[in-house]
Amino acid sequence: MGAAEVIPFEEVRARKQWDTLRYQLHERFDQWLDTLETQWDKPPSTLSEVTATVWALRQQLTGGITETIVAHVQRGEHDRTQSPCPRCNRRLQARELVCRTVETMVGPVQLERPYFYCRPCRVGRYPFDEAVGVVAGCKQLDMQKAATQIVTEVPYDTAQSLFRDLTGVAFGSERLHTVTNQVAEGLTVVDVAPSREEITRRVAAVAAGRWRRPVVVLGIDGAYVPTRPDSAREPQEGRRRTRAKRARWRGQWRDVKGFRLYLLDEDRIVHLLRWHQVQTEEQLGEALRQVKDAGVLPAEQVRLCVVADGAEWIWKHVQMLFPQARQVLDYYHCAQYIHKIAKAHYGPSLQSLEWAEATMTRLYMGRLSAVLGGLRRMQPTSDEAAQAIANGWEYLNAHRGRTHYRQLRRGGYPLGSGGIESSHKFICHVRLKRSGAWWYETNSNHMLALRCAKYNGTLDQVFVRYQQRLRKTSE
Ligand SMILES: [Zn+2]
Repeated sequence: MGAAEVIPFEEVRARKQWDTLRYQLHERFDQWLDTLETQWDKPPSTLSEVTATVWALRQQLTGGITETIVAHVQRGEHDRTQSPCPRCNRRLQARELVCRTVETMVGPVQLERPYFYCRPCRVGRYPFDEAVGVVAGCKQLDMQKAATQIVTEVPYDTAQSLFRDLTGVAFGSERLHTVTNQVAEGLTVVDVAPSREEITRRVAAVAAGRWRRPVVVLGIDGAYVPTRPDSAREPQEGRRRTRAKRARWRGQWRDVKGFRLYLLDEDRIVHLLRWHQVQTEEQLGEALRQVKDAGVLPAEQVRLCVVADGAEWIWKHVQMLFPQARQVLDYYHCAQYIHKIAKAHYGPSLQSLEWAEATMTRLYMGRLSAVLGGLRRMQPTSDEAAQAIANGWEYLNAHRGRTHYRQLRRGGYPLGSGGIESSHKFICHVRLKRSGAWWYETNSNHMLALRCAKYNGTLDQVFVRYQQRLRKTSE
């Protein structure tokens, strides 16, 4: 009985609170209508005239409403008179109320909050800000997130104008740079990897109704991006006038090494995880190890297979970290060797084409020994042909164990590394390779990490981490 009496009282209280807020919001709206009225000396008639007017005043309304709601729900923090010092725990008395305006996607929001200061520790704080979760600087997390979404797709200058035109909020190009690099700072493959639960869910979806465990492909490959040395950074403001007009640095194409884990579902690829960075072989190996140690891949529920070209460094890491994985030499890289031989040996002729096709078919049927034997028996027609034949033989022989294409096909394994190559194109080239764009290595890696996160579906978790980091540094 007692409880039954309490609930209606709580309800009444909540109702009253809501009524108060509602009244305040109406007041806000009225203020906005006053502004609107002054803008309308001549009433607009077309839809675009109306939307243009509302668009121009929109932030004022939505920002204002937000301000009212925040002030309402954080009334306790606003009225707070005491707070402990974060350092010595001494009880501090509230000083004056200080106004601060922050920028959000819905417009500027003004916050009025009490200031606390500990004289002995020389520490000031705003408990209100911590309760509301505002971050240092004007631009709040929602804006930073939107900015990240856009700069990971288009160059900074375009991002700046798109941002302004589509949201009505200004975000300078330089600030976009800073925010991007701050958000991406220190990201590792584990930070941008989906959780084990999420990956297990995707595996289960593909496994449903199948009698064999699904194949997870690990594709590893390299690509090139244009970089510039750190020495190309602009001198400090004061020295800018003396800067030479022509660039003193020389751009360099650097190797982006990347890997991608994906599921095969018939002819479809179900993406799991990718990671691309300008990095050394060792760093790539380390990233692979982190993925393994984090246990995000439910190894016992899948058949792991690694597809790559002939690069020795790749197989070294694979052998060490995933010794049980099926190894596949990219079939299309074999084709390149075979076509080179055909061209050198037979010249541009029908015979050349026929030989190449027959050889590729033999490989496809898993008859590597026949192919190797055939290469041995060839009588090279030139030095060039001899070299091509020797190269092809060595290549195929070195990767013997990775060319059982017939068995692999039966097992449902892929023959080609298209999944990682398309990932390189999509993650690196689309954003980083633009005419005139030369990237500092750090910035290119930040951009790559964010693009990986975005298309791994983990940008939200990257922002949670970012927010935690900001909180830690502000403490
Ligand atoms: Zn103190």
